Amino acid sequence: MRILLTNDDGIHAPGLAALAEAASGLGEVWVVAPVAERSGVSHALSLAHPVRLEEIRPRWYACDGTPGDSTYMALHYLKVAPDLVLSGLNPGPNLAHDLLYSGTVAAAVEASHWGVPAMALSHASARRDLLPEAGRRLRAVLDRLWPLALAHRLALNVNLPAVDRGEWRGLRVTRAGLRWYSTEVYERKDPRGRPYLWVGGQDVSMPPLEGSDCDAVRDGWVSVTPIGDDLTRHDQVPLLAAALVAGAGSVLGAGT
Ligand code: MN
Repeated sequence: MRILLTNDDGIHAPGLAALAEAASGLGEVWVVAPVAERSGVSHALSLAHPVRLEEIRPRWYACDGTPGDSTYMALHYLKVAPDLVLSGLNPGPNLAHDLLYSGTVAAAVEASHWGVPAMALSHASARRDLLPEAGRRLRAVLDRLWPLALAHRLALNVNLPAVDRGEWRGLRVTRAGLRWYSTEVYERKDPRGRPYLWVGGQDVSMPPLEGSDCDAVRDGWVSVTPIGDDLTRHDQVPLLAAALVAGAGSVLGAGT
């Protein structure tokens, strides 16, 4: 099996080293990852800037674009042709609405978009010193999940409970839950005296939601959520269509 690793924390991130260690027994490992941290850039693709790739050691490439660029270049330029893409291991969870912002998740979804099974992998602690232990425990999780990801062509968002909270209870299949960061914005002055702003958002509220990723990780389970790239609200399609038909005369008639 050929496995492509990527992340949004940069090619020198300890989480990527931990993931490479965890994946080393599964097959031939390739790495294409951003040269520096690009957390929170979501699914951005570089369309107005050049993207440079540098092979820093055999099968390890630093990409000066986004996580999405990294997956894209691995698939469509380097032609790695992986059987599986693993993105992470992110220091900090990617739960609920985090999926909309996460570069870790986007790199996996980009692979899935091109038909390659993928997993986004996050550890629910910001402590980088815990990543090696999380990576050691991740091996058993990967062993359980990769055959299913390949068999069913899945993209999975996997969140690991913080290892300093004890043993993991097992795997739970979940849906994205509810999660809001606080909305403070810090105003500071740069060294030249000009003001700048920094997104704060230190506090997180996670209302309980049955079957959610947030609840699973909070309760010590490894959360596994099947994800995809379809943002359509399917339940709203017939309702909106019916509403447009009902109001067609007045809506379309007004301006024409
Ligand atoms: Mn990150």
